[in-house]
Amino acid sequence: MDRLDWTRPNWRCDAEPTHIAPDEPLVYDDAVRAETNHLYERVKDVILPDEWPVHAPLIAAINRLKKERGAIILAHNYMTPEIFACVGDLSGDSLALARMAASVDEDIIVQAGVHFMAETAKIMSPEKTVLIPDMRAGCSLAESITGADVAAIKAKYPDYPIVTYVNTSAAVKAEADVCCTSGNAVQVTEWAAREWKTDTVILIPDEFLAKNVAANTDIRILTWKGACEVHERFTAEDVDALREGHPGVVVLTHPESPEDVVKAADYTGSTAGMAAFVKNTQPEKVVLLTECSMSDNVAIENPGVKFVRPCNLCPHMKRITLQNIYDALRYNRFEIEVDESVAERARRSIQRMLDLPKPDSPGQFDKDRPPVEVGLV
Ligand code: SF4
Repeated sequence: MDRLDWTRPNWRCDAEPTHIAPDEPLVYDDAVRAETNHLYERVKDVILPDEWPVHAPLIAAINRLKKERGAIILAHNYMTPEIFACVGDLSGDSLALARMAASVDEDIIVQAGVHFMAETAKIMSPEKTVLIPDMRAGCSLAESITGADVAAIKAKYPDYPIVTYVNTSAAVKAEADVCCTSGNAVQVTEWAAREWKTDTVILIPDEFLAKNVAANTDIRILTWKGACEVHERFTAEDVDALREGHPGVVVLTHPESPEDVVKAADYTGSTAGMAAFVKNTQPEKVVLLTECSMSDNVAIENPGVKFVRPCNLCPHMKRITLQNIYDALRYNRFEIEVDESVAERARRSIQRMLDLPKPDSPGQFDKDRPPVEVGLV
């Protein structure tokens, strides 16, 4: 079995993808058509009719296998629509997935997402089998920092609480005091300052999230120089060009983006926040400056909204396919394991976050607040 070594900085898995040919051919016949027609109705605006016969046999086989094996698929908002809407049982952003992982009844969890999400599921449900369809599905943020880095930060700043984004390895969560997501980063930062009776909080590893949180709280923030390779690439010039090319378009962005992008956008929030914004406001035209599949998945729920589609692909999320989800369920691979002593400490950090009340408006950031200086640890 391929194993990750998340203690190595800038880790990259060199494992080759190893798809296994199915024992029986998966074909698009009348039975599969009848079994999947209702699912195609759901996604027909975002998946071409010519593509459906390729997806449908795998979708039918996966949905059958899930029942046989007593498995559940947790699907992140950045999964492609044939995964998100056709085989995912529970879906959402990192915060929602962390909550779900702690409460599902099934014995097998397949994480349709990246490695740190599967690790979080295993930490929260240690007695369950947690599978990730491709061990190479990493994350630029998670790879930017190690548990040893966090231990060194703690030694240097013993009086400040360390809040870590969930987009980190188990080792990093174990060394930190509490986790956060983009949906509750301001809330967790302010909670940590109150609990530790301090005016300074260390919020790692995303520098842009830290700067956007700093502009939305009176707490002083120190951070780390990590970034999401999807959101760091958007610029304020992109927003200007979109407004010029698509007059009236409503621009939504994510707090992992640079501050000037947040300033130029109409709304900034977590992926759950973005989805709720579109649902509640039904703009005529909208652009989601985030990972490409998010627009498809939000479009499925909002057929009256026109989506303008510049976006950035996350190469890690796109490692997950119907084929390797099928292989995961059929061949029980790749199983996530987390050392119990690490898991126990990481669980405490995640649980502290989950014990806080759900934020009223997930991850909403106020673009009119002035930028604030944020130091690096
Ligand atoms: S979108 Fe960004 S934060 Fe999410 S997995 Fe990809 S690189 Fe990591």
